[in-house]
Amino acid sequence: MTSATTGRGPDNTNLAAQPDAALRELNAQSVPPGPRQEVYCTKVGTGHPEEMYIVGAHMDGRGLGEAADDNGSGTALVMELARIFSDPAVQTDRSIRFVLWNNEEGGLAGSRAYVDQRVSLQGKEEPAGSGRYPEPKWLGMIQHDMLLWDHGMPRADGSYNPEQRSEADVNIEFQTNAKLADEAMKLAFRFRDANEKYATDYPAAVGHHMTNTDSTPFMDHVASISLRENERGMQIGAGWNPHYHQPTDLYSSYSDKDFRLGLNAAQTTLGGVAQLAGVSLKD
Ligand SMILES: [Zn+2]
Repeated sequence: MTSATTGRGPDNTNLAAQPDAALRELNAQSVPPGPRQEVYCTKVGTGHPEEMYIVGAHMDGRGLGEAADDNGSGTALVMELARIFSDPAVQTDRSIRFVLWNNEEGGLAGSRAYVDQRVSLQGKEEPAGSGRYPEPKWLGMIQHDMLLWDHGMPRADGSYNPEQRSEADVNIEFQTNAKLADEAMKLAFRFRDANEKYATDYPAAVGHHMTNTDSTPFMDHVASISLRENERGMQIGAGWNPHYHQPTDLYSSYSDKDFRLGLNAAQTTLGGVAQLAGVSLKD
């Protein structure tokens, strides 16, 4: 997610202040202006290859830790779903594209570039008569950004509940100000239904203030939602996650219950997008 440096916690901008040599090395890459790389792969639909759902997460991070939650969690979800759908026995009627965006933290630069460069290519067969569609028509965009931590608001003394709160949930947000807000709202509730049916531990809640992630550049072109551990504007914005953009965003900072919330987000999107894309299993 994008944000100015929060100023909370230990120094999250001074590389020399990171005492762990391995983490210094991990965070040594500079952020130059100029072109950056992104990656995607596509499950080509058998009935409608010319239409697709987009399942995304950003792969860049900040804070001088491991960016485990923001956004290793979303990246892992996208890669795991791509692995499942890549099985030749799994067929889908419509296409699904799995995308890892770059430069989200610097202002959604990767997803904006994708929209700018590819919005006009949608649904065009290239070359003509080939049956190939480099950019299938967008049917929905589902973004994943921070999926592990839902411990509730900080206590009066500034400390945090050490485990997931009993009300922990997956937050599915759309944006009321989007041109396609009604379509996005419907998409959000389809994913909430999928959560009820396929997620094993944690429920989902729908909210209407999707913000600060890579679904934003898409939201006037296609129904767009984000899945998160908390509501971005209200809860993460109010300091519910003490590891957000901090050197403590490390895999060792999260428990099995935290990772299980991420698993439930994966189950939600797997079930939701499989239904929407028309999945079937070959004998
Ligand atoms: Zn993020």
